[in-house]
Amino acid sequence: MSAVSISSPRCDEADSSSSDARQSSSLAFGSLKIAHRHLEHLAIVYVRQSDPQQVLQHRESKELQYNLADRAVELGWPRERVLVIDEDQGQSAQSAASRHGFQRLLSEVALDHVGLVLGFQMSRLARSCKDWHQLLEVCARFGTLLTDLDGMYDPADYNDRLLLGLKGTMSEAELHMMCQRMHQGRSNKARRGELFIHVPIGYVRSESGQAVMDPDEEVQAVVHLVFGKFDELGTAGAVLRYLVAHEIRLGVRRHDGPTRGQLEWRRPCDTTLLSMLHHPIYAGAYSYGRHPIDPRRKVPGRRRTGRTTPPMEAWEVLRKDELPTYITWERFLANQERLQQNCDRISSKGSPRKGAALLGGLLFCRRCGGRLAVGYSGAQSRPRYRCLRGYRQYVLEKCQSLSAGPLDDSISGQILQVLKPATVTLSLKAVKEVKQERQRVTKLRRQRLERAQYEADRAARQYHAVEPENRLVARQLERCWEESLVAQREIEEDLRRLEHTHPAELKAHELEMIQALSTDLPALWNATGTTAADRQTIIRHLVDRVVIDVQGESEHVDVAIHWNGGFVSQHELIRPVGSYEQLSGYKELMVRVEELRRSDHTSVQIADQLNDEGFHPPSGKTFNATTIRRLLSRSRPSQDRECPAPPHWRLGDLGRKLDMPIRTLHTWLCRGWLHSEQSAGAHGRWILWADDDELERLKQLREDGLRSSGLSAPAELTTPKPQSEH
Ligand SMILES: [Zn+2]
Repeated sequence: MSAVSISSPRCDEADSSSSDARQSSSLAFGSLKIAHRHLEHLAIVYVRQSDPQQVLQHRESKELQYNLADRAVELGWPRERVLVIDEDQGQSAQSAASRHGFQRLLSEVALDHVGLVLGFQMSRLARSCKDWHQLLEVCARFGTLLTDLDGMYDPADYNDRLLLGLKGTMSEAELHMMCQRMHQGRSNKARRGELFIHVPIGYVRSESGQAVMDPDEEVQAVVHLVFGKFDELGTAGAVLRYLVAHEIRLGVRRHDGPTRGQLEWRRPCDTTLLSMLHHPIYAGAYSYGRHPIDPRRKVPGRRRTGRTTPPMEAWEVLRKDELPTYITWERFLANQERLQQNCDRISSKGSPRKGAALLGGLLFCRRCGGRLAVGYSGAQSRPRYRCLRGYRQYVLEKCQSLSAGPLDDSISGQILQVLKPATVTLSLKAVKEVKQERQRVTKLRRQRLERAQYEADRAARQYHAVEPENRLVARQLERCWEESLVAQREIEEDLRRLEHTHPAELKAHELEMIQALSTDLPALWNATGTTAADRQTIIRHLVDRVVIDVQGESEHVDVAIHWNGGFVSQHELIRPVGSYEQLSGYKELMVRVEELRRSDHTSVQIADQLNDEGFHPPSGKTFNATTIRRLLSRSRPSQDRECPAPPHWRLGDLGRKLDMPIRTLHTWLCRGWLHSEQSAGAHGRWILWADDDELERLKQLREDGLRSSGLSAPAELTTPKPQSEH
């Protein structure tokens, strides 16, 4: 926007003297419509050209539009009362939403500041009937005139309104035809597989407009590396971290600007890597319409919004085997499947997680078919698998849950069993892979050095070519030469360092270490350097899914491992439970303990006997003297002990009343969330106090704990009733 404020002497003349000028221009513009009140208001010149290219190239049109300010002066407006709005240069008139200049024009008219609006053609003002009629309506309401090169119109006048309406309709139709012709042309070219807007990294456009492989070997090597590493590491994030850690950059050809087509080495980012992995061109396929625009999702004024990603079948054009390839089509499809599975959705496995649980995303519930979620709770962040689908979707009862440790151990055991026969092959392959990896990184560094050497040589040639007398240029070129020599030296040193620390041929002790590790799988599996994500990745290579079913509330869990390839193996798992009552053989256990006690066995003997007979305590481990003594104290007749009546409770009784594990109740007690007293003696019995209100509070506390999975409970639920109310 720029307000024309150059005041010429002519403008300062009185009304009578400017009447001549007005008279002459009235013939051309039919300015009989101009009344005194129009001249008292602003004349606005609206300047717009559709795109930045037009602004640069169609200068005469731009000049003509700016000259409209002179017309307004000829019509009798003082120059300082002529306002030029040119904020919308380079904006299409398809919609008013992104045109701030047009909106400003509308608001000026609506504020009754404007007497005349001048435009080169009416199509410059609005290409949409909606915007056009809005402008007409506002102009008619406030008595503003409109002018283009053909004439002057009063929107309040019936005939003029009719003509303006027609012009608006024609303008919109013209735009529609233009767009349609352009779209048709593009579609035809795309259908022939010849339309390339930008070619991705690793390709360049040939003279004939076709996409061909980038002639630069380093660019090609990096593209191959990206796909190779994705096969190995499985996620775009892991590939990105690898590239950044090894200072590997992507060779990008500039699409625009004075250095168009030249190579730039850029640090990779996740968006670029993902778009490479998703692009079918690397498998030799030409595609068009992979991201059509959905007008409903488009945000007005933001250019790249509304992009959608339909499935491959819905792409406008897909022509396989058209272009040079980096990967096969099958490998491209496998990558898509893997990327899909990496998304953390209910229908996909998700990528390996950071947490300690090994089966996140792979574990299914036999009861309801849902995927079990992983939750971490407690100070040690112990993982637990929980089936929450019914609860989350329909607020049904929670389905089943179990702590992750025993199941993970059991599955790890199975995996190691399966991998055992492959250890020799694994050790050979590991050596080969380490070698390849080192060679690849060294090769990339060598290529980078070659490039630096070439640049230094070129800088030297340029310096020698210039006349020494031309000091200004020579000084600059000398500086460039020095800089390129420094860069070359840095890369040389870097390469030497790399060759020293990671030589391409493995040393004897490195070979020994790799072989020892790959033949001793359990040690490798449990090594501190092996992360949970590594273990998860290995499991995912072998196992498709694990289906579990906890038998009631008992310690028995049925486990079915669905191996990749279709084989299903069935296993039984003993999980830890909260109390003896939950054990499936509780009654038999108590009978047996009583028998052994009566036959004067010691605690140690009873423990050994029970372990031999296959009994186990709730922890799922084995009995010992301490656990037996505790168990015996349970089996003693209850009249031996003081038996409190509500609102006084024993720990076990309150646990049963609230239907919750005694361990949790004990934790609450230690945290002071309950009123409790301990009877005399070293291991005195806990007596808790809880009336109806307290029972209600504890129930809520329990529910809150289950819901929030380890987050801190609100204070009103953890604070017991005041002591005075006892
Ligand atoms: Zn379930």
